[in-house]
Amino acid sequence: MKKYMMKTARGGTAAGTVYRIRENCGCRNRRPESPEYETGLLKKAAEQLRLELSDSANRATGESRSILEAEIMMLTDPSFLSTACEMVKNGDMTAEQAIIQTGIVMKERFSGVSDRYMLSRTDDITGLVENILRMIRGEHREKLEKPSLIAAIQLSPACISRLDLGMIQGIVTEKGSPVSHVSILAGDCGIPYIYGSAEAVAAINNGDRIIIDDGTLIVDPDDETYSAALEKMSRSARREAPPTEAPECSRTPVFANAGSLNDLRAAVRQGADGIGLFRTEFMFLDREDEPPEEEQYGIYREAASIMGDRKTVIRTMDIGSDKRTAWLQLPDEKNPALGFRGIRVSLDHEHIFRKQLRAIMRAAVHGNFRILLPVITSVWEVNEALRIINDCERELTESGIPCKKPGVGVMIETPAAAMIAPELAEIVDFFSIGTNDLTQYTLAIDHEEESLDRHYDPCHEAVFRMISLVCRAAHKQGITVSVCGELAGSEAAIPRLIRSGVDELSVSSSKIGRTRTNAAAAEKELITACIGTDIASPADGRLVLMEDIPDKTFAAGILGRCFGIVPSNGTVYSPITGTVTMIAESKHSFSVENEEESILVHVGIDTVKLGGRGFEFRVAKGDPVEAGQPVMDADLDFIKKAGLSTMMIVVRCS
Ligand code: PEP
Ligand code: MG
Repeated sequence: MKKYMMKTARGGTAAGTVYRIRENCGCRNRRPESPEYETGLLKKAAEQLRLELSDSANRATGESRSILEAEIMMLTDPSFLSTACEMVKNGDMTAEQAIIQTGIVMKERFSGVSDRYMLSRTDDITGLVENILRMIRGEHREKLEKPSLIAAIQLSPACISRLDLGMIQGIVTEKGSPVSHVSILAGDCGIPYIYGSAEAVAAINNGDRIIIDDGTLIVDPDDETYSAALEKMSRSARREAPPTEAPECSRTPVFANAGSLNDLRAAVRQGADGIGLFRTEFMFLDREDEPPEEEQYGIYREAASIMGDRKTVIRTMDIGSDKRTAWLQLPDEKNPALGFRGIRVSLDHEHIFRKQLRAIMRAAVHGNFRILLPVITSVWEVNEALRIINDCERELTESGIPCKKPGVGVMIETPAAAMIAPELAEIVDFFSIGTNDLTQYTLAIDHEEESLDRHYDPCHEAVFRMISLVCRAAHKQGITVSVCGELAGSEAAIPRLIRSGVDELSVSSSKIGRTRTNAAAAEKELITACIGTDIASPADGRLVLMEDIPDKTFAAGILGRCFGIVPSNGTVYSPITGTVTMIAESKHSFSVENEEESILVHVGIDTVKLGGRGFEFRVAKGDPVEAGQPVMDADLDFIKKAGLSTMMIVVRCS
């Protein structure tokens, strides 16, 4: 039995047998290891490819068989592998870089010839190089036959999405980061994940029995320790079962992040208000061919059935950076996080973008969808995307295919987007702040880079200032702001997010209950800070600080200390238990009193002008009411159509 202390990306306990993943699964842009290590990778990849090709050649016939045999011949040509091995000898090249360089050298040899057959060999070299890269990166199908703990040097989202996540009990890697996408996926599925010790990972072999217990790894535990860990694991599984008791209800809606249809089902089970971020790329990383429109339509159609009328924000594919796929060959970049990803890929590969948009818009007829565009930095990108969206809608309509164009929003996940939020707010329907990338780009820190953990501060002042700026710009245009990065589920951050004016939070399903409780506590804290007492908010929606209320009398506190609410629906509740002591003649306000408090609720600004239209009371003056009991219904659309603000003001009169 050996114990190692590691770093925790996702906490929890797991005990079981190990499935050892091939080295460096799908990870790019790494630094060279020792020459022996790199040579080993090259040899292992070449051998694995040889076996795969031989297997396919044995099953193939005719022309296909000849092509495969030609590829095997090139691969087993001793000069091919030895050229690559020579290149890694000095320790300044990775196996991947060496294989790419070898391909270039080989192609140069053929470039002078005029023979068409020989020239066509250069295409075969490209194919061979891509296949070896695929092997080195572990981009081949791994199969978990039974529930297992995964061990690897490093994992990529593509690699992990090739596995059945339901079979993964825990993850141990040498290289990792608590804010990587692998970590986010692990968190979404409640999988404990530790990283950070080369020695520990080197000590684990396929089939070993191990225990992960928060930051500790135990390899080959004795029977007693193993049984205790199994017992702890099943206790925490029982705790994480769907909530039987509703968590404290926050006025801030709490949505779920999802990367698959199963995640949507989990979100519904956990009582999410909807889906705030559907990362569609996760469903398509693990494949060789581009996903056809019909297949995508099937997925979104199913998403609509699962979610019913709950709002579902579908983000168009954010491929690139660490999220690579075999069916879309992107350039090998020095800085993939600063390269082709998100909207850049979609606009450059418009045919792929169109397929996804058409599939979403066809399925939108059956659901309550929104479209979200990732990694925006400029207004022109959004305008171009909007033009394509409109074009797809026109095309579908003209072909008589039922479709619906959902509202379109943008991810605010680059400092550029945050700074031009006022301009973006004029052309889109909502914002969703991706704090994972916003932090990485603002702090100039690769969020996959473990050695920078200490500098990666998601609660950095610069990030919060940008969030405030984005909220102000959005609300000025009357659009909403959601936060869908990991910060949305952070207990430390939620009070600041609510204070900044964030309208919605979107977190992994496993965090919904806790996030609601934390948001409810933050709302209480804010209300108490505004009016000096702790009362229930009389409406669902975003809280507004007294000084930000767009009415001088209220903002100056002339009627008493107060706060505002931007209501998300028209139901108005009693803020305290007491008696209804006043209902205004024009029905736009009422008061509730008890021995300690007198609270006035004013629905809308200047709504006295409406002469009672748009308001319906469920109680009468003199009636006793409980805190949280619905007392009136306001027709928010009617108020808006009259050109008035629907903001509710809650004043503490005593
Ligand atoms: C983010 O950047 O915060 C985000 C939610 O997007 P992703 O994590 O998918 O890049
Ligand atoms: Mg992002």
